[in-house]
Amino acid sequence: MDFSIAPSTLKRIQRFDKLGREHMRPLGLEADRLGRPTPPEHPYFEKLVAMGFGRTRYRGPTASKGKKKTVVDSQQKKADEKKIGRSRTSLLVSEQMSYWDRGVSVSGPGPGLGEGAIISMGTEEQKERYLSPFIELDKPRWGAFAMTEPAAGSDVAGIQTRAVKDGNDWILIGNKSFSGNSSRADFILVWATVDTKLGRDGHRAFIVERGFPGLQDFHIEKKMGLKAYESTSFRLEECRVPGENLLGGESYYETRQGFKGAMATFNATRPLIAAMAVGIGRSALDESLAFARENQMFDDPRVRDRLERVARKMRMARLLCLKAAWLTDHQLPNIVEASMSKAFAPTAAFEAASLGMELLGLAGARGEHIVEKLFRDVKAMDIVEGTGQIQRIAMARKLVNLPNK
Ligand SMILES: Cc1cc2nc3c(=O)[nH]c(=O)nc-3n(C[C@H](O)[C@H](O)[C@H](O)COP(=O)(O)OP(=O)(O)OC[C@H]3O[C@@H](n4cnc5c(N)ncnc54)[C@H](O)[C@@H]3O)c2cc1C
Repeated sequence: MDFSIAPSTLKRIQRFDKLGREHMRPLGLEADRLGRPTPPEHPYFEKLVAMGFGRTRYRGPTASKGKKKTVVDSQQKKADEKKIGRSRTSLLVSEQMSYWDRGVSVSGPGPGLGEGAIISMGTEEQKERYLSPFIELDKPRWGAFAMTEPAAGSDVAGIQTRAVKDGNDWILIGNKSFSGNSSRADFILVWATVDTKLGRDGHRAFIVERGFPGLQDFHIEKKMGLKAYESTSFRLEECRVPGENLLGGESYYETRQGFKGAMATFNATRPLIAAMAVGIGRSALDESLAFARENQMFDDPRVRDRLERVARKMRMARLLCLKAAWLTDHQLPNIVEASMSKAFAPTAAFEAASLGMELLGLAGARGEHIVEKLFRDVKAMDIVEGTGQIQRIAMARKLVNLPNK
């Protein structure tokens, strides 16, 4: 396994450092102080678009459909040739952006967590309609993903949002919670059930456009950390969705693969979340080292010992993430590695932030230091996209050859 970083990737990461230092960190501190997400009309998002951020991996309508090739087809070819390494590149970029501010990095424009499912499960028409605007963004645009409900978080099989067929349309009825960027999104990929008795087999995803009647009551949640991006709850009050917005179309509906599609999304993104935790943890470690240096704490062997232990764990966490991404880059299964990275990295990063808080003493307790913010930010990394506990349960079952429930 080769984990070396290509010079071009290193160059990209250096670009993020400038953006991070000059924009992301100050914006994250501002959102934390004000207790509200960065508004969608903020010039920072225009800047990101101008820099080429927020683009989709989807490359446009294919020649096989008999349509004219888009400009990006040649880019696609190049990208495909370089495919080995794309996951590792995303991972390192995610880590570095989270080093500067994880909340701000998630607030940026882009098709969001639903992109992977639309690319892998969507019809050509769905990809073209909903992802094409993200090929070259004309303005900041967002997409969102809504699985979680007030009574269904870890137990995703238990979602209660119902999808009822009505002529050619579907009617969605239910409530969704904590969906990132959803009140500003052009579309939300909403997971619902066609029959609660079917459990996971009943799951289907629907692309719900902003403005569809019945998509309503957006409420931006109050969060302990990561305040720069919105986590929003909303209601589907008999929301009418055209039949063509059932992800994958009617033929897909028959295959009953909805739940597998959602899980495939998470297997791909868990190592990214883990890498984001590494970014926050490294930031906490650097700040702790600086504080300990300024306050002449390095003479104490217990302080040195604990700082070293955290540094070691951050490196271990990063290696786990890289292995999970390496497997993805080589089209090899990575379920265990993805879970392992997600179970380990947030805990290690939490230890880094906790140590920082201990070293800071009263400065930390007063909330006067960035480490205190990182301490609040890092907690969510253990929760999102499958809690650490759920990953440990899944890995333990796998270890003793029990099927996952
Ligand atoms: C910042 C943030 C952003 C988010 N963004 C999104 C988003 O964009 N889209 C979206 O759909 N959702 C999002 N979520 C929701 C997130 O996916 C859920 O919070 C997560 O799945 C956990 O669900 P829950 O909070 O309901 O906790 P619960 O599932 O109620 O779990 C509570 C605790 O019980 C433990 N637990 C649960 N079941 C078991 C079990 N069987 N055995 C042992 N322990 C168990 C869990 O590990 C956890 O510690 C976000 C959440 C946060 C905090």
